[in-house]
Amino acid sequence: MTQADGEMMSSQITMEQTPLNSLDRCDRCGAQAYVRAILVSGGQLLFCSHHAKSYAEGLKPVAAVIQDETQKLANQAAK
Ligand SMILES: [Zn+2]
Repeated sequence: MTQADGEMMSSQITMEQTPLNSLDRCDRCGAQAYVRAILVSGGQLLFCSHHAKSYAEGLKPVAAVIQDETQKLANQAAK
């Protein structure tokens, strides 16, 4: 039952957002993207975890939503 609980929690956080997958690439370096920033202007940017950190401060004023899936990366590294 713990697995179902985890799915409920993640679906609440990512509500109405498409999960990032291996086809989503960082706009800066082309690595797999783990962060999606939906801009106030309506556009979106994709970042790998490295560039998400680099641009985090610059994104805050212009991003309506920041979808951060870098915990997936941490889970993979742990296995
Ligand atoms: Zn990158």
